Amino acid sequence: MSQLVLATGNAGKLKELQALLADAGVEVLSQKQFDVPDADETGLSFVENAILKARHAARLTGLPALADDSGLVVDALAGAPGIYSARYALDPVSGLPAGDAANNAKLLAALDTVPAGPARAARFVCVLAFVRHADDPLPVLCQALWEGEIALAPAGAQGFGYDPLFLVPGEGGLTSAELPRDRKAQLSHRGRALLQLRARWAETGL
Ligand code: IMP
Repeated sequence: MSQLVLATGNAGKLKELQALLADAGVEVLSQKQFDVPDADETGLSFVENAILKARHAARLTGLPALADDSGLVVDALAGAPGIYSARYALDPVSGLPAGDAANNAKLLAALDTVPAGPARAARFVCVLAFVRHADDPLPVLCQALWEGEIALAPAGAQGFGYDPLFLVPGEGGLTSAELPRDRKAQLSHRGRALLQLRARWAETGL
């Protein structure tokens, strides 16, 4: 069975990607098992950061690597937090990312005056980059969007990140943190990007 390393230190992503790859016929290892530190995300796009993270993990482990760069794009905020979604709210003392709860609080405050409905339109973006080795000249790239709206208050305890604030259309007013895990996997940016990747692997091999 072939092996690949998942180039993420984000526990929420890791859990989702491991579940999505459970039956892919590949042994999925986490970069944590190799003590790979998080890569510096210096790119200006999801694509650049996904490639950068995949190369970093492949270089330090010697294994094929799969990275996910994702985030939330909010129309009323001119696309913020976007590629900075994980580091939207910063701790005032350390300057380090303050975490999911602080990110959600900052997002709600930024949208304070924006009424419920289409004015709060947003989408999750996921770009997956798969490299066979660190210098792979042809990374496999797949991307998907998940359209929704930002809720007025958080709801639900599943998932991670901005899930409690992401209202999913056609699901009875639920946020993505209230959806069953397998429903999120069917609908989400990450679930659908991974389906594309698996189709590519089926054509070309891993
Ligand atoms: P990255 O690790 O730089 O790709 O940051 C991704 C960030 O986007 C996460 O830390 C979350 O804040 C947010 N995000 C991405 N995907 C999801 C999701 O499926 N649910 C909720 N938040 C997400």
